[in-house]
Amino acid sequence: KLYNQVQEAKGNIRVFCRCRPLDKHEASAGHAMVVDFSTSKDGDIGIVTGSSTKKLYRFDRVYTPNDGQVDVVADALPMVISVLDGYNVCIFAYGQTGTGKTFTMEGTEQNRGVNYRTLEALFDTVDERKDIFSCMISISVLEVYNEQIRDLLATSRASKKLEVRQASEGSHHVPGIVEAKVENISEVWNALQAGNNARAVGSNNVNDHSSRSHCMICITVRAKNLINDECTKSKLWLVDLAGSERLAKTDVQGDRLKEAQNINRSLSALGDVISALASKTTHVPYRNSKLTHLLQDSLGGDSKTLMYVQISPSEKDMNETLCSLNFATRVR
Ligand code: ADP
Ligand code: MG
Repeated sequence: KLYNQVQEAKGNIRVFCRCRPLDKHEASAGHAMVVDFSTSKDGDIGIVTGSSTKKLYRFDRVYTPNDGQVDVVADALPMVISVLDGYNVCIFAYGQTGTGKTFTMEGTEQNRGVNYRTLEALFDTVDERKDIFSCMISISVLEVYNEQIRDLLATSRASKKLEVRQASEGSHHVPGIVEAKVENISEVWNALQAGNNARAVGSNNVNDHSSRSHCMICITVRAKNLINDECTKSKLWLVDLAGSERLAKTDVQGDRLKEAQNINRSLSALGDVISALASKTTHVPYRNSKLTHLLQDSLGGDSKTLMYVQISPSEKDMNETLCSLNFATRVR
């Protein structure tokens, strides 16, 4: 029944941790794995910080390097399908650059990730329910870089300034942003490809650029119940966040410094919002960053949130891994 599902006592924030395999350079250089999954009966993960010391962290799920895309997506599917029942949903990948955020969300052509697989299931479900619901689905693809919103589906390169506005009924939107109507997964795929291509334009190093900006996909579902004429509008956000690594102070000057500060600011703002929601504080500081302001309708209330915290298994990344796990502990 719409809107009447009993909330799980635990709240609506799930944190999953995924560890990538050692890559071939790390393996051939003989790097030790500092991540210990042996205690991960219920989502515990250990980080070996010394010969006899281990720090334990607990998650709703832990994925080892042996878990594939199918395993990782399976746990996100019910959440995505609930968008069709009127829920707003947000799925993030958080972590240091190189830990698999894009691999989890986007995947590769041969091994697609959360975005494609969950949206494919969404369209299958729309099809199964077509005698009861009529749905209109649209997609926006945008990027937040240096606290500026860029529409990755805009056809003209005119740099109109995009801002988040609150509509009279309270929902948040970005006036002027392209919302492309999509009727099936292949149209979604085309939009995602177009977004990726636009992202590359104007950056001399695409990988660098994409690790310093947030890539955000917004799926809007307008559903009408054909039996009682009830209408719902809900949003699904799929977010590949900028890399969470701290840059060494000495390395950072000028534009890089500004970028680093903006990333820092928006990731802390995200942490603040989610931890305020988790602790049921009344004031939730959505407006401290573009990222959280954009997501305002889809974080909190009866919205559902899923964060994949991505980590590296290698000893060389241990400090960043501990930072990411501490961040995750804060929001859980
Ligand atoms: P990020 O987006 O966090 O910077 P990427 O998704 O680009 O990281 O991943 C870095 C590299 O590691 C890529 O070559 C990716 O294919 C690989 N990789 C990441 N996670 C996995 C995994 N779970 N299994 C296999 N390869 C992975
Ligand atoms: Mg990436």
